[in-house]
This record gives sequence, structure tokens and C-alpha cells, in this order.
Amino acid sequence: MSRENVVWVDGVVCSMEAAGVSPVAHGLHYGTGVFEGVRCYATSQGPAVFRLPEHLARMKRGADALAMPFDEAAVTGGVVDLLRANGLSEAYVRPLSYYESGGLSLDVAPLHARHLVAAMPWKSHLGSTEERGGVRLHTSSVRRTAASAVPPLKLCGNYVNAILAKLEATRAGYDEALFVDEQGYVCEATGENVFFVKDKQVIAVAHPDALPGITRATVLDLSGGVERAVTLEELRDADEIFLTGTSAELAAVGTFDARRLAPGPVTRELARLYQAAVHGESELSRGWLLPISAS
Ligand code: PMP
Repeated sequence: MSRENVVWVDGVVCSMEAAGVSPVAHGLHYGTGVFEGVRCYATSQGPAVFRLPEHLARMKRGADALAMPFDEAAVTGGVVDLLRANGLSEAYVRPLSYYESGGLSLDVAPLHARHLVAAMPWKSHLGSTEERGGVRLHTSSVRRTAASAVPPLKLCGNYVNAILAKLEATRAGYDEALFVDEQGYVCEATGENVFFVKDKQVIAVAHPDALPGITRATVLDLSGGVERAVTLEELRDADEIFLTGTSAELAAVGTFDARRLAPGPVTRELARLYQAAVHGESELSRGWLLPISAS
């Protein structure tokens, strides 16, 4: 088994093939699972995982919503064991907990959950948008699932909503979709939170239906920015717009519907500060990195 082709499953590191998934897994049929997207970065102390407790605390809230048992300490151990086993110095790490067996009824009480951690060499899902002058962002006609319908957590099935918005955007020639609510307030993108800069002030879009992003919280700390509700009209008038997410990091928006924006100096400086933080080169990031080296 190749070192990279391994996965952690309920306490054991095994090959991806050996992990197996039942064709009648509850999570496969109904999306009854919760996942996280976490990053491991190369630092002077070797590979280190960025803000793992915050990711697993959010995952626990998702598991609680599904009445699924979830052991944060066990999954932390799984992340460390897997990264030691696969030898990747930088990786995108995907913990996933889902209902596997116990039937296909909608009552989850009799079901048995499985807990996995996978890891892979990292590539931003927004790809090399920077080389093309920034993300091309499209205001979606698809509405974000309301928090009153599905809590804004990383629940597997709810990502169909994001995928439909992304499909509309890519079909129209854009990279990413922006969710806006019926009242005209900006919510988030399909896999990132939204920030903008106006007159040098950094503003994080706040919306009850948006995922409480860990990159968003980090960038608020690094920038001293403010968070508040923002209308689409106000966003259209921004000096700079950028998206934040574990995978995308800070991604400058270069096209917003019909408008071109130059990726600006505030976004560039915050992207630099963020890189310093995730690589352990900033005072602030000391408590944010979990080194995985065996010693
Ligand atoms: N919104 C959604 C819908 C997401 O899936 C993500 C990615 N987890 C984000 C925002 C950004 O969150 P984070 O910074 O915690 O990765």
C-alpha cells in the first residue's frame, strides 16, 4: 500500500480500498454525515495542522445536530496518526463522520456511525484564479439553505445546495457563486465567506445562514476588521472584495458579475499575513498550530 493511499477509519490506518463503503450506507443515500476541511502546513517545526480544535468543535456541533456520537480526541488522534503515516508535509485533511449501517429508515436512533479521516496533497478548489486576475464571482439565483431549515454547519447533504449554485456559476463562465437572500443581503459563497474593503476599512459579511468560517475568524483577528450585515448594493460599491476559506485561503475577487476589480493592496497584505500565520511565522499563530512530528 502506497504511503499516500491511506485513510484512518475508527482507530485504524488502512488503505483507501480496504476502508470500503456499503452500497446501502445511510449517509450515501441521505447525506447523513458531517465533514471538515482542514489544512496541514509545512512549518519550521515540521508539518502542523492549523486550528484543528476549532474545526473539530464545529464538526461536533454538526454531529450533535444528527444525534451522532463524536469523539473529538479520537478524531484528533486520527488526524495525527494519518499524517504521520502518509508522510505528507502539506495536506488537505478531510475528517468525515457518517451513518453507515442500521437500515434506511429516517429515524437515526438505530444507526451506527463511522468516523474517517482522509488526507491528500493540497490544491485550492478555486485553482489558479490568481494567475487569471482573481476569482470571477457570479451573483446566484439559487438561495442559500436557511438556517431555520438546516443549521449552517458542514452537514454533507446540505452541500447539494452549494453545488447547484456553483453549477449555475460555472455554466455562465464564472468560478464561484455568491448567495444573496430574498431581502438583498449577502450571505456567503459556496465554499467561502465574503469580505470587502471600503475606504481602507475591512468588513466581514455577517449573515445567519452562512457557515461560521474559521478562516473568516482568523482574518478578522489579523485585520482588526468589523463584521456586519451587508447588502448586495453595498458590495457592488466595494473597493476590494475577497473570499476566505480553508481551501481557498484568501482569494481576491477580480470579476464581480459585469464589474472588473483590480485585486487590491489590502487583500494582498492580508493574504501575506495569513500565509505567515498558517506557516507559524506570526506571533498570533503560536496557539493555532498542532505539530504532528513524532518527537
Ligand atoms: N462557507 C462554506 C459553505 C464552506 O463550505 C466553507 C469551507 N469550510 C466556508 C464558508 C469557509 O469556512 P472555513 O474558513 O472554516 O474553511
